[in-house]
Amino acid sequence: MDSTTAKTLQLVAIQHELAMSIGLDLDLDCMLRHFMRTCLRRLGLRRIHFYLDPDQLEPDARPATSDPLEAAGTFLSRHVSLPALEPGCPSVAALDALARQAVEGSRCLARAEPEGPYYVAFPFAGIGCAIFERAQSDIEADVIHALEPIFERLGMACRACIEHRRILDEVAARKAAEALILHQASYDGLTDLPNRKTLTDRLHQSVAAARRHGHHGAVLFIDLDRFKIVNDTRGHAAGDALLTAISARLTQAARNDDTVARVGGDEFILLANELGDDLDRAINAASHLADRLQAIAREPIEIAGLDHHISTSVGIAMYPEPAYAQLPLHEYCERLIQFADTAMYRAKQEGRDGHRFFSPEMQAEADRRHRLESELRHALEREELCLYYQPLVEPGGGIIGAEALLRWNHPQLGTVPPDDFIPIAEESGLIVEIGHWVLETACAMVARVHSGGRFPELRYVTVNVSPREIRQREFVENVIRCVEDSGIPPHMLRLELTESAVLDDMEASIATMRHLVDYGIDFSLDDFGTGYSSLSHLHRLPVATLKVDRSFVTGITEHAEHQAIVDATVAMTGHLSIDCIVEGVETEQDVAWFRDKPIHAMQGYHFSRPLPEPAFLALLERGRGGATGREPNA
Ligand code: C2E
Ligand code: MG
Ligand code: MG
Repeated sequence: MDSTTAKTLQLVAIQHELAMSIGLDLDLDCMLRHFMRTCLRRLGLRRIHFYLDPDQLEPDARPATSDPLEAAGTFLSRHVSLPALEPGCPSVAALDALARQAVEGSRCLARAEPEGPYYVAFPFAGIGCAIFERAQSDIEADVIHALEPIFERLGMACRACIEHRRILDEVAARKAAEALILHQASYDGLTDLPNRKTLTDRLHQSVAAARRHGHHGAVLFIDLDRFKIVNDTRGHAAGDALLTAISARLTQAARNDDTVARVGGDEFILLANELGDDLDRAINAASHLADRLQAIAREPIEIAGLDHHISTSVGIAMYPEPAYAQLPLHEYCERLIQFADTAMYRAKQEGRDGHRFFSPEMQAEADRRHRLESELRHALEREELCLYYQPLVEPGGGIIGAEALLRWNHPQLGTVPPDDFIPIAEESGLIVEIGHWVLETACAMVARVHSGGRFPELRYVTVNVSPREIRQREFVENVIRCVEDSGIPPHMLRLELTESAVLDDMEASIATMRHLVDYGIDFSLDDFGTGYSSLSHLHRLPVATLKVDRSFVTGITEHAEHQAIVDATVAMTGHLSIDCIVEGVETEQDVAWFRDKPIHAMQGYHFSRPLPEPAFLALLERGRGGATGREPNA
């Protein structure tokens, strides 16, 4: 074999080996390194450098450091050198310049440094450039020529790797997105707790297991007390922070195999699996669990430098209940959650910050409320509501005012007492519409009485305002509009509020009250003695009158401690220059006890029950000329 043939064969062998080293790996970096190592070995190189177009690479495959070539606006950046270049190596700038030149001219370029090394740059396939570095001698032209198809092939392989990587990344991104969607469908976005759907799934499993194995479990429905106020007064970010903190605490208080889920704004459910097969013990365990949750939730929570104290009301429903054994699983589970909710509601009604177990009697009550609520929605349009008036009688016996009291005449249920439907109206928000109607109706009545100066002794009519109404943003505006539309002087309307109505957000309530006081409408503090009866509140609230609750007044002669309380209250109102009215005066003895007391007025069945407008006007008529406004049989 002559030397040319031998050389040709050797070249073919090199070509073959280099070609074989391409495409062995679908990872670009591995593929290149493999190719580089073959080049180093087979071509006797000292080093080999690769430049690639960063736009072709995924962001995380690009070199992190900024590169002189990129800065110069060339599309290449150094990808990898083998063996690696030492940082600050003086040949870097020369290499970069050579790569740029080769690519810009899209041809193979050689350069020899005076003291060596010797470089050859191969731009390839429009996506990169390889630079061979040899100690001294150059590479023969036929070798370079033989390498051209290899680099063609390398370019294609690079593109394949890049495409492969892109597809992998795309698949990974799609999988991540799917996982996220799946997670979002099952978990709550804010707290990352399981959501209602996940809870329901787990409840199904747990109830099925409990039915099968005869053990007990419990659904604990947890609602934060007065959470809305935090949201309203401190903003939604604070509300969110509070919910997140509470959810972490609930999770911490739960056992490992329990589920804590967020099922509504400030509503959580703890599903306590497997509380054993003895019902009494299971009930005990659920009760302890509720205590623990409530204690841990009660600890102050710091948000933006302020300590928040939040309590919770918890309703508990135990399962499985033999009475519902025939009920399909999903229906029973739905009911269970509803039972726990009903029990939670009872806990709220009974003063919050407590827990209650569900009982069937609660369900009957909940059904009744539900029915009342739906009926109440139509009460206004069906004109089933009306106002009664109960006189306020001064110690001398003359009627000086009246309290407007709402009545609901339901065609089937008869007269529904306000204590039954006002709380429902309050919770459902219907109170806002109803309250507005009450104001309009009372103002219209005052206007009728006042017109033509008929009963000048009637100084004012009071209207009860509930917490939800006073929190309405448009409250001041609405009240003023009612007064102006009816044309009555503002001082003839007085608003009655309980302490608890203003307590929820004292500052905002005081501001609302001040606006109306400035306009000329006075306030009465209702049911005094039943709430906090705090002197500091009384001192700050702009009230003109205080009404002592009837629980202290009715039958006062028989209760020494009531006498002491009423005496102290009357004295206090005197010091604060607030008028004192006593409610619930039922008998002659009650009246007699108050005879010498410095009170502003009395109210009670002794003088009259609340009356419809015509009867009340007739009473005013009869009471003229100093006669007592007494109407015992009304
Ligand atoms: P309240 O504002 O404390 O009204 C006084 C309640 O005591 C009235 O009950 C009245 O009928 C009753 N009462 C008056 N004198 C006597 C008495 O001598 N003995 C006894 N045992 N009771 C007496 P009513 O009309 O059933 O109203 C109950 C509560 O419902 C009211 O208590 C008030 O809080 C609320 N309410 C009534 N009307 C409205 C309204 O229009 N809006 C709002 N938000 N609440 C109202
Ligand atoms: Mg009242
Ligand atoms: Mg009252």
